[in-house]
Amino acid sequence: MNKKRIVTGDRPTGRLHIGHYFGSLKNRVKMQESGDYDPYILVADVQALTDNFNNPEKVRKNVREVVMDYLSVGIDPKKTTIYIQSMIPETAELTVFYSNLVTIARLERNPTVKTEIAQKREVFGESVTYGFLGYPVSQAADITVMDGKVIPVGEDQLPLIEQCREIVRKFNSIYGEVLTEPEAVLSKEKRVRGLDGNEKMGKSLGNAIYLSDSEEEVNKKVMSAVTDPGRIKKDDPGNPDICMVSYYHKLFSEEEACKTICKECRAGERGCVGCKKELAKMINATLEPIRERRKYYEEHPELVDEILRKGTEKARETAKETMKKVKKAMMLDYFE
Ligand code: SF4
Repeated sequence: MNKKRIVTGDRPTGRLHIGHYFGSLKNRVKMQESGDYDPYILVADVQALTDNFNNPEKVRKNVREVVMDYLSVGIDPKKTTIYIQSMIPETAELTVFYSNLVTIARLERNPTVKTEIAQKREVFGESVTYGFLGYPVSQAADITVMDGKVIPVGEDQLPLIEQCREIVRKFNSIYGEVLTEPEAVLSKEKRVRGLDGNEKMGKSLGNAIYLSDSEEEVNKKVMSAVTDPGRIKKDDPGNPDICMVSYYHKLFSEEEACKTICKECRAGERGCVGCKKELAKMINATLEPIRERRKYYEEHPELVDEILRKGTEKARETAKETMKKVKKAMMLDYFE
């Protein structure tokens, strides 16, 4: 059976947290283990530079951190190709070709880009860079240069895949049927909220639990999670629907246990401190094997480099194959 190529990736701007774990990493491991797919994961350092151009140390440092997070959750380099985006120059070349096929107005209308620009006012001020506005074009190149067929995404990323499909259609209509239109597969997992109740979990918000956090760090962070503010005493009836501890119990604890927690909370039969301690225990139980695997790679950085080197070499071969077809179709195959 022909395995479908999946292309996914992350910007290396920080260690990965439990939002990434439930939002994409678990799903990637599941798809990898199904045997139906040929997964490629790019560490998107070029994309990270679009809004961190003045901080290359941060991007460089986090490339290995992100890869260690992948390996620690069970991404297996024998089954999944992990590679560095900037080491595939064919992607940059294809981005240039694609930039003729998309208008500035269309990029400005992309809902994902519009939202992100609004969120990054402190980086860009009133005027966004050409590189950031154009990142959907380079993302289209990331996907198609690796002949990506299936792209697992969250709902907020759908406009980026639609933009990629448009570029592919335009390319094929002008130069011939060379490229495959990737199919977006909507990930069932939704975004995990922060410990403070914020819709987004992130470093800048200080509300994240990282996969590499120690037991002590997890215990401390869980103690700071927002609970029902109306509860003063232990026997006050509580509302678990507005409590982040109850929200996380639903991610880490069994269904039956969650029902009991909610029932006891509403009846005023459960204390918040004990409830938080139980949650921290569940989170630590999930993170323990992840920490152990991470520790192994932290002690063997040469293995991480070797995985990246081999993955990048393989990805580069795939990219060269695609570019051969692209250049032939565009009549740029001089001296061939
Ligand atoms: Fe939240 Fe638990 Fe306190 Fe209820 S008892 S408010 S679920 S921490």
